[in-house]
Amino acid sequence: MSKLLLIIEDNEQNLYMMRFLLEKSGFSVIGAENGPEGIKAALRHKPQGILLDIQLPEMDGYTVAAELKKHSELCDIPIIAVTSYAMVGDREQILAAGAYGYMEKPINPESFVDEIRKFLHDYNKGNDKKGV
Ligand code: MN
Repeated sequence: MSKLLLIIEDNEQNLYMMRFLLEKSGFSVIGAENGPEGIKAALRHKPQGILLDIQLPEMDGYTVAAELKKHSELCDIPIIAVTSYAMVGDREQILAAGAYGYMEKPINPESFVDEIRKFLHDYNKGNDKKGV
C-alpha cells in the first residue's frame, strides 16, 4: 500500500513540485494551502507523514505543529518542517513546536524524496524502540 503524505504549503509551485516528486516515487499526496485546512485534512485522512511549511497565511507553521500535536489521533504522525526560514534558532523553534524533521527550501529534486523516506524510516525505527 502506498504511503499517504499531507503537504501543508501555501506556495502553489512548491506544492506542485513536492507532490510531483513524491507521486512519481509511489507516495499518495494530499495538499492543503493553509493551517486550518491542513489540520482538517489530517483528521480526515490520518496520513503517515505531514510536510509543513512554516510561512503560512493566518496560522503559521509553529502554531499548526502545536495544534496537530494536541490531537491524540494525530500526535504520532511525524511532521517534517519545510521552510525557507534559515535564521538561527528557527530549526530549534519548529522542533520544539513538535516537528520531527526539518528541511530547508529550495528543495533539491535529486534528494528530496530520499530525505523524506529517511525521516519516515528513522521516525518509525525510533518508535519501535520506544515500544520495546
Ligand atoms: Mn509559505
